Parts: sequence; structure tokens; C-alpha cells
Amino acid sequence: MTIKTDVIVVGAGLSGLYAAHLLQQQGKTVSLLEARARVGGRLDNHQFNNGDLVDVGGQWIGPGHDGMYALLKKFALDFYPLYDKGQHLLWLGKKARRYSGTIPTLNPWALLQLGWLMWRFDMLARSIDVKAPWSHTKAKQWDSITVESWLKKNSFSKQARELFRISIGAVFAVECSEISLLHALNYAQSSQNLDYLISVGGGAQQDRIHGGSAGLCQKLAHSIGDSLHLNRKVSAINWHANSVTVSSEGHEYEAEKIIVAMPPNQLLRVNFTPALPGVKDQLWQHMPAGSCIKCVAQYEKPFWREQGLSGQAVSLQGDLPVRVTFDNTESGKTAGLLMGFIEGDHARHWGTKSEAQRKAAVLKSFATFFGEQALSPIDYVDKDWAGEEFSRGCYGANPTPGTWTSLGHHLRTPVGPIHFAGTETAEHFTGYMEGALNAAQRCVNELS
Ligand SMILES: Cc1cc2nc3c(=O)[nH]c(=O)nc-3n(C[C@H](O)[C@H](O)[C@H](O)COP(=O)(O)OP(=O)(O)OC[C@H]3O[C@@H](n4cnc5c(N)ncnc54)[C@H](O)[C@@H]3O)c2cc1C
Repeated sequence: MTIKTDVIVVGAGLSGLYAAHLLQQQGKTVSLLEARARVGGRLDNHQFNNGDLVDVGGQWIGPGHDGMYALLKKFALDFYPLYDKGQHLLWLGKKARRYSGTIPTLNPWALLQLGWLMWRFDMLARSIDVKAPWSHTKAKQWDSITVESWLKKNSFSKQARELFRISIGAVFAVECSEISLLHALNYAQSSQNLDYLISVGGGAQQDRIHGGSAGLCQKLAHSIGDSLHLNRKVSAINWHANSVTVSSEGHEYEAEKIIVAMPPNQLLRVNFTPALPGVKDQLWQHMPAGSCIKCVAQYEKPFWREQGLSGQAVSLQGDLPVRVTFDNTESGKTAGLLMGFIEGDHARHWGTKSEAQRKAAVLKSFATFFGEQALSPIDYVDKDWAGEEFSRGCYGANPTPGTWTSLGHHLRTPVGPIHFAGTETAEHFTGYMEGALNAAQRCVNELS
């Protein structure tokens, strides 16, 4: 039996869920098809042995994420600020320096350099039109160099360079040599600026959602009801000028329009008939996902707070896998959570190791920063997003050098009845949950 609706949405990550929710509000009928046995995509919870939940995917929201705050309000979900009291640590290899704010205490020369790099980067980003980054007068020039080349040309302090690299790793989950300057500038401008992206209070890491971001996806799923179909991996989409059919796991779906809300690397795995224009496929081929393993250790209590520490550490010690940490304790809970990211080349290396090997290395990182107590967690979890069949990396996709200027203008263009959502297609807050909502709203507007 074929299920006929007005619209098919593929992918029940935040973008697909929100698109389906909006369409239903307009009175349209929808089939929302999701490959996994759960909703949320890059938003997921883990339950520790004591019952506490922790986000192992996206978690933070900040000022400007108006769609997210509005949705939380709509579904009566609460949020709270990330713990940001006390001093942060800069681990320089042999010793730790304590500091406050976003810029660590360095020697004056390195500090000046880092401040200048951040300022210069954000000045360049400000001139980009996020609707059309390829139209900037310097677009070709900036798209032909990597962030690494720009960094080497514009800095003389090794420490400042290293810290800037860590900031880029923390935001994109890639090495500076993998992305073009234009992509990095556009991404920063899409969310305001790089300073916003690495900040806690007033920045992208300001707030957490009580019960985790996956809870919001569950609320959206509940609102969508029977129109949501889990375990429906879409491998083929057949389309005509005014209709589309999808068969998935023995089920048939038909609609006038389809919204695909999947990351580019997943779109490449779908067989479109007739084939999509070559430029679409080529674009997705040039948009690999970043590499990140999110690691969380649970302790009896957040012991680092007793030492006057915030739980935030930045490490310049290359042999430790974790370069950035946060206090991920949920407000109101007794147990303390330390969270660390393994990113870029480190993630590719540690993704090949066993969980036990990773755990030992991550706890060693935590203990180096916060003391021996960190070696004795009551529970531990990590998630390598490259290992997830329907994500294959995170936080988002990053066009390789030259891609924005040669293929970027095809990113959002519909093809026949096919419309493209997903955070990667967002103009504002691309790569973030807010971007996933923005992209969904744009697609729904395209359909009306
Ligand atoms: C570790 C990590 C940390 C992050 N931190 C933050 C953060 O703090 N703040 C923030 O705002 N963002 C963060 N992000 C990014 C954020 O999670 C994403 O921007 C957002 O969730 C993307 O939503 P989406 O719907 O566009 O894509 P996805 O969540 O990837 O959804 C796509 C959906 O499509 C499904 N799918 C794939 N292939 C098929 C197929 N063939 N058939 C059917 N379904 C398919 C997938 O299973 C998935 O459910 C983070 C992400 C990760 C992984």
C-alpha cells in the first residue's frame, strides 16, 4: 500500500522534525521518514547507570538562537546556564596557568598576537554576505587559501597560533589545513563572529537544555504523531516535475514535494532518479563532515569546583587527546560531569582505538588538568560521531577549499519537487541547532 501525503520529509533530525511540525501546523499531511530507530540525528542522550542523562551530541544554545528558545518555551522545556564560575586552565605541557574570560594568560607577545588574530579574523568575516559568500570581492582569494596558510602568514607567535588552531578545532572539528579561509569566515559571520562561537556567557556555549537537547526532539516527534516513521532508511528517491515516490524498507510513499533534511554525506548515498544535476552531487562530494568524539566522565561530585576551577581547560600538550574541556554537570544534579572533545586528526586516531583505550587516555587528560581524582569516575561515556552510520562525522559539513566559490551557489537551490534542509544549508547559525531550524523554515516557505 502506498502512503500518499502532501509532503515527504526525509530525516528526523531537528531540521526534518521542525519542517514536518511546521507543515502540519499549516494543515499539510506529511510522511517523515527516519533511518534510525530514534529521532534527533546529531542530538542524542546517554543514560548513566544512576539514571542521569547527558547529551552526547549537540547541547548548547546562546543569544540569537531565537528559534531554539521559542521552541523550548512552546514545549515547556527549561534551560540553564553552563557552569562558568571560577578560573579556567591553560595547560602548557608542564604547568597550568589559571585565567578568566575567553583569552588565556600568555606571555604579552603571544597575548597581543592572539588578540590581533581574533580581531583581524572577525573584521574580515564582517564583510561577508552569508546569503552569497561567493559574491565577496575577495571570495576567490580567500577560498583558495586554508585557515592554516592565513594563520602562518599573519602570526609570529607559536603559542598564539596553537591557541587559534584549538579554537578552530573546537568550532569546526577539523584541522586548520582542511578548510578554506572563506568557509571559516562565512561560518563565523553566519553566527555573528568567532568570539561568539568560542564564548560561554553571551556566546554559543551559554545555555543547556534541562533533560538534554534530545528531549526537544522527542517533544517535536510527539507533536508529529503517526506521520513519523522510524527505521525507514531512504535509499532511492524517484521524482518527476510535480511528484515524488520513495520506497523504504518495503513501504511506499508518494507526495507532491519532498524535503531532504540530511547531511551532505548522507545525500550522496541516496539514488535519485532521474539523477540530480552533476553540480549538486559534486557539491556534496566536496562537503566532508568534521571529526569529533565527545567524552563525558561522571564523578560523585564536581570536585574541581572546590579548587576554584570552572572545569574549562585548554591544552597545548599535543600528546593528550583532549584539548578542550567543560563542566557539563546538569544544574540540580549531585553528580559532576567533565566533558572533553577529541577533534580533527586526534579524533581520527582515537576513533580507531577501543573504548577502554580511549577512556584511559581521556581520563589521563582530565587528571593532568584537574588532578588525580579525575582518574576515578563513577561512570563514563564517549561517542565517536564518525562511527555513526547516518551521520559519519560532525559537528557539520565543511566545504573544502575552492568549493564555496565554484559550487556554493547550488547549496539551497531546489531541484524539481526536491527541497534541501539540514543545518548545512542554513544562512544563519549554519552548523548549529538554530541553523537546523532556520533551514527547515526556509524549506517550508519555499513550499508555500
Ligand atoms: C558532538 C556534537 C556536538 C555538537 N554541539 C552543538 C552545540 O553545542 N550546539 C549546537 O547548536 N549544535 C551542536 N552540534 C550540531 C547540531 O547537533 C546539528 O547542527 C544539528 O543537530 C543538525 O540537525 P539536522 O537535522 O540538520 O541534521 P541531523 O541531526 O544529522 O539529522 C539528519 C537525520 O537524517 C537521518 N538520515 C540520514 N540518512 C538517512 C536516510 N538515508 N534515510 C532516512 N533518514 C536518514 C539521520 O539519521 C538523522 O536523524 C553538535 C553536534 C555534535 C554531533
